[in-house]
This record gives sequence, structure tokens and C-alpha cells, in this order.
Amino acid sequence: MPLTPDEYRAPLAQAAAHATEWLNSLPSRPVSPRENVEQLETAFARELSEGPTDATEVVDELARLAEPGLMAIGSGRFFGWVMGGTLPAALASDWMVSAWDQNNGLRYATPATAAIEERAGAWILDLLGLPAASSVGFTTGGTMANFVGLAAGRGAVLEAAGWNVNRDGLTGSPRVTVLAGAEVHSSVELALRYLGLGEPTLVASDEQGRIRLDALAAEMATVSGPLILALQVGNLHSGAFDPLREAIRMAHEHGAWVHVDGAFGLWAAASPRWADALDGLDTADSWATDAHKTLNVPYDCGIAIVARAGAAQSAFTAHTSYFIRDDANVADPMDRVPELSRRARGIPVWAALRSLGRTGTVNLIEGLAANARSLAEGLSSIRGVDVLNDVVFTQVSVSFGSAERTRAVTQALIDDGVVWMSGSTWAGRDVLRISVSNWSTDAADVALAIDAVARAVAKIHL
Ligand SMILES: *Cc1c(COP(=O)(O)O)cnc(C)c1O
Repeated sequence: MPLTPDEYRAPLAQAAAHATEWLNSLPSRPVSPRENVEQLETAFARELSEGPTDATEVVDELARLAEPGLMAIGSGRFFGWVMGGTLPAALASDWMVSAWDQNNGLRYATPATAAIEERAGAWILDLLGLPAASSVGFTTGGTMANFVGLAAGRGAVLEAAGWNVNRDGLTGSPRVTVLAGAEVHSSVELALRYLGLGEPTLVASDEQGRIRLDALAAEMATVSGPLILALQVGNLHSGAFDPLREAIRMAHEHGAWVHVDGAFGLWAAASPRWADALDGLDTADSWATDAHKTLNVPYDCGIAIVARAGAAQSAFTAHTSYFIRDDANVADPMDRVPELSRRARGIPVWAALRSLGRTGTVNLIEGLAANARSLAEGLSSIRGVDVLNDVVFTQVSVSFGSAERTRAVTQALIDDGVVWMSGSTWAGRDVLRISVSNWSTDAADVALAIDAVARAVAKIHL
């Protein structure tokens, strides 16, 4: 049954119609899914059919059955975890990526997508003030971006100790010590596990979750061999940034590799507002961030940046894996990330930045933080609400008194349906955690959110 080119037209038009309907419903619909996963599994429980089904019918069925089980993550009233929405240009270009279906591994084979990602990478380095010669790779997310930076670091610190990890592996190698703040994100720990480096040694952090320099100095004084320091820009609960310049200086004195996990917070570097808070950021060796959080491109897209491009290539080049190359050779996309075959997920990043421009990008980031501050202010004025963190970026952590009461208010808030925010624990305390990460959240959404919390608080008499 050969396809004729026009067979794409109807299913794509239908997909666009369903997608538009979904997106247009976001401003008014409740955020939570109406059905749970068991109900959805039942809805999709049909046996695999013997014969084919028309593509347009497949798209219709998908939209109809899935809709009750979709979380409105793109809603301006969604404040859960740290999840962005999607900018129109980013979404539309993501569709182009799928339609073009380029295997974006090699520059000569897929020149257009390789060139566009190259440009997106250059724009990111420029916006964030990172070294212009850095390697930029597009990964599935922050976890794999952390993996890339830490893999490059592992190779480099072992190389400096006279050990070639690509050739000889880790068995019998000098021990690599990894230091990280006590509030390191679990994805850094996961990446270290993938890399055979085990659990990091945790360094005490302060009340905002920032690594403490005195504790770091004390810990580093006990280390003699290869060392990696993982810092954080954007604490999940407070949004706080580690004290970069001094921590990085100390680590470099010890010959360490410094990796910065900035999954959502690295974008603060685009605005002069956080210039002091992020002083020294550019002196690190590698950085990880997400585009699917603060930049608001569709899932999935992380960005792995390594200052010494050769260190990333050494870890990921499939053909010449022995030596760290520091020459000006332009690496192929597959030399910068774990995958050989992958979609050109850097293109929605290019489109987001192209559509926003420099000012628009800065406004997006500052706007998220401004909304977080308004939310925190509004919530502070409600009786029985305690904002626990200094609201320095997009994150707000709130307590409603006891753990039990905080959990009950959080549940009442989610049942209410107008907004969606996550429960969490921070430094042993139950909290409601609010993340303002959606480009479309506006003052009206912030007001609705404050009202919704006030309603939930009034409902719980504990
Ligand atoms: C979200 C997040 C990650 C992990 O990113 P994914 O895109 O979910 O893989 C890492 N670090 C921090 C601080 C995060 O917020």
C-alpha cells in the first residue's frame, strides 16, 4: 500500500486542528487531568487490530481518548515542579523537526539542522555570557546535560592524573572524588551513577540551600586525588545560586573540574539583574541547562555546555576517543552528546530565541521572576501562610504550619483545580512548592493563584 505524498495532508491538518483546540482551551480549563491513569489505560485497552486504520482516524482517536487524561502543563495556572510551557514559534518549529525527520548526527549529512543548532548554541553562549568556544550539545534534558558535563570532567581530571578512562575504563583508576552541595539535584547523582563515580560527598549548605564556602574549603582540604565539584545555579526550593566565583576559584586551585547544574536557573545569566548573584559563572568548566523549563520549548530539550570543547569530544566522539582535542575542528553534533542518532531538538531553541530576540528573552526570564515575587508577596499577606525562602528567582516554598496542615492545604488546592502546585519537602519540612516557569503566566493568573491558596487555607481547619 504505497503512500502518495498527499496522504500526509489530512492527518497533519487534523493534528493541527486538535492541537489548536487543546492550546486554545488552556486559558480556561482546569489544570488537573479529569481521569486517572487506570481510567486512561482502560480507554486505550483495545487489542492491536489485525488490519490498518486510516491515519486521520488514528489522530482523531488519539485526541479524543487522551484529552481527559492530559495535565494542562501549558496553562498559565500550572506552577508544578519546574515545567515550562511552549512558545508558539518553538512548538511550530518542533513540528517541522518531526516532518523533516533529520538524523542530526553528522554535519555533512544533515547540514541544515546542524547549522541551525550551531547558531542556537552560539546565541546561548552569547546570552549567558559563557566562553564563545564552548561545545554546545542538545540533550533530552537537564539530567543528560549534567551527564555530559560530568563525563567531560571525569575524563579531564583522570587524564590530568595520567589515566586514560576511554581506553582503560575505571577499573584500577585513581579514585575521583566528587563534591556537591547538600541540596544537589538528584539528576546529578543519577549522572554520577551512570558514570561509575558513585555517590558524591555532600557539602553542607546554608538555609537557602547554597553550598557553604567554609564547609567546601574544609572538605576540599581532605582531598588529594582527582576532584570534580558540582555546583548549582537555581535551587529547586529557593531558586538560590551557589557562591560561584569563590567556590570555583578554590576548586581550580585543587585542579578540580567544576560543573554547574543550572537546569532552570542558568537562564538568569541572560539578565543584568542577576549579574552579581552569578558573578564567576563563566569561570566554570561545564554547565547544564534545560530549554524545556525556563526557555519554554516543548519537551524534550536540555543543553550541555563544555568550555573546553575537546573534553566533550573526548568523552563522546565515537571514532577518535583517545585524546582530548583542543584544536579548532568543528565537532559533529554526535561528538557532543551521548546519542548518535537523534532529532534536531536544538531547532525549537533557535526558534524560541529567534522569535523572542534578546530583549524578549530577557523579558521572559525577568517576567517569570517578577511573577514569583508577586505571588510570594500575595501569599505572605494570607494568615497562616509562611513563605520560607528569599524569592530570588522563580521558586517559592511555602509552609501552612504543621506538616499535616501543609499537606492538607496542598491537596485542597489541587482538588480546587484552578491552579496546580506541587507538595515537596525542603530541609526536612513539608512545603508547597511553587515554580513560575510558564511564559504565558500573567498578573491575572497570579491573582487567581493567590485566591486559590487563600480558599484552600480557609478550607483546612487543623
Ligand atoms: C529539572 C532539573 C534537573 C533535571 O532536568 P531534566 O530536564 O528533568 O532531566 C536537574 N537539575 C535541576 C536543578 C532541575 O531543576
